Amino acid sequence: MQEERAYPGNFIRFLGTAGTRFIMLSQRRSSGGIWFSCGGARGVIDPGPGSLVRLCEAKPPISPISINTIILTHRHVDHSSDVNALAEGMTLKAAKPRGFVLLTRDCFEGGDSVLMNYMSKRIKMVAFHEDGADSEPAPDLSLESVAHSHNGVQCFGVIFKRTCAPHWGLISDTAPLESFSKRYVGCEMIVINVALSMPKARIDHMSLPEVESLLGTICPRTAVLTHMGNDLLDMGGERISRKLSTNRTKVIAATDGMVISLDGDFKNLEG
Ligand SMILES: [Zn+2]
Ligand SMILES: [Zn+2]
Repeated sequence: MQEERAYPGNFIRFLGTAGTRFIMLSQRRSSGGIWFSCGGARGVIDPGPGSLVRLCEAKPPISPISINTIILTHRHVDHSSDVNALAEGMTLKAAKPRGFVLLTRDCFEGGDSVLMNYMSKRIKMVAFHEDGADSEPAPDLSLESVAHSHNGVQCFGVIFKRTCAPHWGLISDTAPLESFSKRYVGCEMIVINVALSMPKARIDHMSLPEVESLLGTICPRTAVLTHMGNDLLDMGGERISRKLSTNRTKVIAATDGMVISLDGDFKNLEG
């Protein structure tokens, strides 16, 4: 298909880079989550408001009907509101249940599911994050869930593992945890949700100094920061990148539409 010729074989595209409800509500940055095409799995991580629209507007195009995997790190509305719209794309015209959704139990159970009941019946596999457990949405992709701590809701990061490719990871909304330095140490590329310029009491989000400290321990080749709040957006991506990049780690502040290749060098191809 056209898209396969236009993008690398494996890549992510930032449909949105909004951090916090304030940025979502102003749409200073889009809130669509991250498209990934990796090891045969194709879909969106944390499809917030506008995810389907940003997908349809992407250039080169990405078809929502080609989705076979959706990942929710947690149930907050800026991470989950478009899950049903994307699940519609994943299951459209399918004669039998199709696709894979990975989410937290509190996204699905307890009578307040973010995934509509009728939609879940059309999905082949609904899997739940368990800390340290792998799930396999495609033959060459394992997703290892990593427990987070985030303002009273269940929340997990993910490590994407292919057999003959470097691992890469995602740290979602969370307080900084000691376990991260061990869990993410093998990742050559890491995407980190960083909402704050400085730590704030009782706010379970990563801040710039905490990200800097973690990167000094796990030393990935590339770190891509997203989900930035107003003060970080005011600071500007160039400045953040200069401040945090080292000889070992190139730090990139994500922008809406940015594409990162997952084929070898984690190059920033656009944005
Ligand atoms: Zn968030
Ligand atoms: Zn959140």
